[in-house]
Amino acid sequence: MIALRCSACASPLEIDALTCAVCGELPAFVLDTAAFAADEIRARSRARRASIDPRDRSGVWRFRELRPPIDEAQIVTLREGDVPLFDAPLGAAYAGLARLSYLHLGMNPTASFKDAGMTVAISRARERGSRVAVCASTGNTAASMAAYAARAGMTAVVLAPVDGISAAKVAQTLDYGAHVVAVEGDFDDALRAVRALDPSMAAVVNSVNPYRIEGQKTAAFVLLEGRDWNAPDWVVLPGGNLGNSSALGKGFREAYDIGLADRMPHLAVVQASGAAPFARVWETGADLVPVRAQTDATAIRIGDPASWKKARNEVRTSAGTVLAVDDSEIADARAVIGRDGVGCEPASAASLAGLRHLVQDGRIARDTDVVCVLTGHVLKDTAYATRYHESGARYANAIVRGSSVAAYLASLLGAHA
Ligand SMILES: [Zn+2]
Repeated sequence: MIALRCSACASPLEIDALTCAVCGELPAFVLDTAAFAADEIRARSRARRASIDPRDRSGVWRFRELRPPIDEAQIVTLREGDVPLFDAPLGAAYAGLARLSYLHLGMNPTASFKDAGMTVAISRARERGSRVAVCASTGNTAASMAAYAARAGMTAVVLAPVDGISAAKVAQTLDYGAHVVAVEGDFDDALRAVRALDPSMAAVVNSVNPYRIEGQKTAAFVLLEGRDWNAPDWVVLPGGNLGNSSALGKGFREAYDIGLADRMPHLAVVQASGAAPFARVWETGADLVPVRAQTDATAIRIGDPASWKKARNEVRTSAGTVLAVDDSEIADARAVIGRDGVGCEPASAASLAGLRHLVQDGRIARDTDVVCVLTGHVLKDTAYATRYHESGARYANAIVRGSSVAAYLASLLGAHA
């Protein structure tokens, strides 16, 4: 029903391989979509949403038949994946659209999209008897791995760039009991070190691990299900290491092939202009040239994305696009998302900033049905938010002495009455 193959040369691969023995590219699970009936999947998902079993309530595990099988007793879940779609009236106006919604993957147990993949990767690691999980991370993968490894009784080891990781994410990772190694270098250096590890020493749970992708693809199913299985015209998401772009593309493709949705949305992947090697690939048609990444959106500060070929295939299949936006545009878009009462970390806001470009350029018309994917919670980078509000003298709207608060409030509330 599902087999592991090379994503480039299609050679069959040993289960748990992290690279193709023939050509060195990334593995990917290939699902026999003809073996599934859409009505059955829809009905089973509906029934499981009403169950009290945590595996059924998880937005990831309620679609478990669409993945490589894992012993149900080994599943490590924190009720991830069942994230909300929010209407975004201010975001729509900002982008120039009549309407817009956000799929907020930051509403996961450790507050980022990584949980949907990590629950599967750690469950598989536990099933095969791994005692240690390891990853390179700009912060969100670290926190997610640390939480799931803790639940699984495994040791978690994180390699994180010494600069360019939010303090909130490090604290969160330490809270879950992980061993954090600060690497003097960037994310790409850390990932190279992890990929060079002897696989018998530890389970590598970066998105080069195809089990991660099999979890994260379910965000596509959850999005479709939240719209009664009606696909939007476009899905816009931030792009860093490009595992999530690959995963969402795979999810929409499989949903379409199975008949869960009547069409595939176009994917738009948005990078930060200081970390945009994939946008360059899209523009030039050439192979990826790694860059030394620089952006305040640290979750996508990645100059040598591991999954760029898989992501390019998915974006092409969806007739989508790739673009880059400046950090100042990300900052403005993030503020708008906050004003919708939603909030997100900076990298997430690349999606709305990119959408605004696509509308201004006439690539997306005003009445188009669009979902922006937000990948991390607003509290993931509190230092960024603080800097943003301080820089415009907006840290507080007023400073009032204790004895004057009552009079100030009366006047303020009177003005809004
Ligand atoms: Zn190969």
